[in-house]
Amino acid sequence: MEQLIIATKNKGKVEDFRNLFLKYNITIKSLLDFDESIPDIEETGETFEENAALKAETIAERFSLPVLADDSGLEVDALDGRPGIYSARYAGLEKSDQANIDKLLEELKTIPEEERTARFVCVLAVARPGKPTLFKRGTCEGRVADQPTGENGFGYDPVFYPKGSTKTMAEMTPEEKNQISHRKNAMKQLEEWLQKL
Ligand code: IMP
Repeated sequence: MEQLIIATKNKGKVEDFRNLFLKYNITIKSLLDFDESIPDIEETGETFEENAALKAETIAERFSLPVLADDSGLEVDALDGRPGIYSARYAGLEKSDQANIDKLLEELKTIPEEERTARFVCVLAVARPGKPTLFKRGTCEGRVADQPTGENGFGYDPVFYPKGSTKTMAEMTPEEKNQISHRKNAMKQLEEWLQKL
């Protein structure tokens, strides 16, 4: 593999992946490198895998190049896995982190601490023309707090205590979060695959 397109317009994600691929001599591009406007691909799948594959395979077909896409979210056990694949738009289509957190805390308000177990999930899909799509899944186990704490990160970070931590993810530095995050764990698995290439 000489070139890989990262199916995102998010600069932070592109940098993370570029760092991961540095030592493999693979040229990394992202949707930010292409002039033609690529419409957002609708996430119509029912699993993280389906949504990541939808994004990766659509772009791979368009450019006839290998493409990596990710999909992530928070699964809460007391809510049968919700918000799951709907994490970004849990409280509505306008995608507000604050509204999503408010909705989650409201739904969990009668649930005691020991039953507030949850995990962040990140699925990476690599689509390659003429080859089956490859999947790597990373998780980060923890529990949902009863109120938001911390200013860092994004999404549900202020209400998520990783297992064994006294800080929410939003109280951690980006470096601390990156050591234990679901995204990092998925990337570690992708790296094991890259080493075998
Ligand atoms: P996407 O994979 O970029 O579509 O993200 C899905 C949604 O899951 C985000 O909008 C957040 O609400 C949530 N999420 C995914 N990863 C994280 C994380 O690392 N911290 C907090 N929330 C996250």
